[in-house]
Amino acid sequence: MTIGRLAPTPSGRLHLGNVCAFAGAWLSARADGGRLLLRIEDVDRGRSRLDVEADLRADLAWLGVQADAETPRQSSRDYGAVLAHLAPRLYHCRCTRAMRDEGLVATAGCPGGCADRGWPDGALRFRLRPGFASFVDRRWGRCESDPRAFGDPILVRRDGLVSYNLAVVADDIADGVSDVVRGSDLLEYTTVQMQLWEALGAPPPRWLHTPLVLGPDGRKLSKSHGSAHVGAMRDAGATPADVWRIVLPWLGLEGAGSLREALPRWDPAAGPRGPITLASP
Ligand code: GLU
Repeated sequence: MTIGRLAPTPSGRLHLGNVCAFAGAWLSARADGGRLLLRIEDVDRGRSRLDVEADLRADLAWLGVQADAETPRQSSRDYGAVLAHLAPRLYHCRCTRAMRDEGLVATAGCPGGCADRGWPDGALRFRLRPGFASFVDRRWGRCESDPRAFGDPILVRRDGLVSYNLAVVADDIADGVSDVVRGSDLLEYTTVQMQLWEALGAPPPRWLHTPLVLGPDGRKLSKSHGSAHVGAMRDAGATPADVWRIVLPWLGLEGAGSLREALPRWDPAAGPRGPITLASP
């Protein structure tokens, strides 16, 4: 059975790029008669906020993006067993953020070659296997990337917080997720996450990456693009149908004013790959 998920991070309010990815997740699960889960991805406790989470829930309800069930929030989960399972592939890394920012990544997994140093402490990195890897995305077709171009992913930060990389894969496996639908900013990174799925002994999900949505300045949507946020559009008098008439064409679904209306025409491969650049308000 298809099990999809909405996995919002409650650190920023819902914007049109999030809406596009969540619409894809909803349509994909419903078209298969599957289940859709809501999981609050608040593993980064420093950046997650309860008021933002409340707004996210309100915005999703207003748009009619309903899940069938909610799974435990990340901040309530224990990743100890997963880390123990991965232990043979983990090493401590003492590289500073400045070293990483200098772009000294790739070749040895981390800038300082920590994999061979046997440090007793530091961030915990997962040792990637070398070599290109490929997967089939339901919109993009066959995709190929070199996971090591990103460096070995950090699974536990130096301050002890579990990272997005570990949490998202461990949770998808624990929640029985079969279909991952998310923005194309993570397309190339998928081969990194596939190694985690494999190391945890789980078959990878089906992947679908929805168009990335950029602000009029060509940058990824963020707090500074106020008018691209669902709450701001609602405050300015927009209806849910107005939002859907903007977003659904990015999924090849012109003219629909709701997800239900769009559902019979859903085709994961249809529509642009993006990126979509918003016009100035
Ligand atoms: N919480 C992540 C985000 O908001 C989900 C990414 C994913 O689906 O892997 O970007």
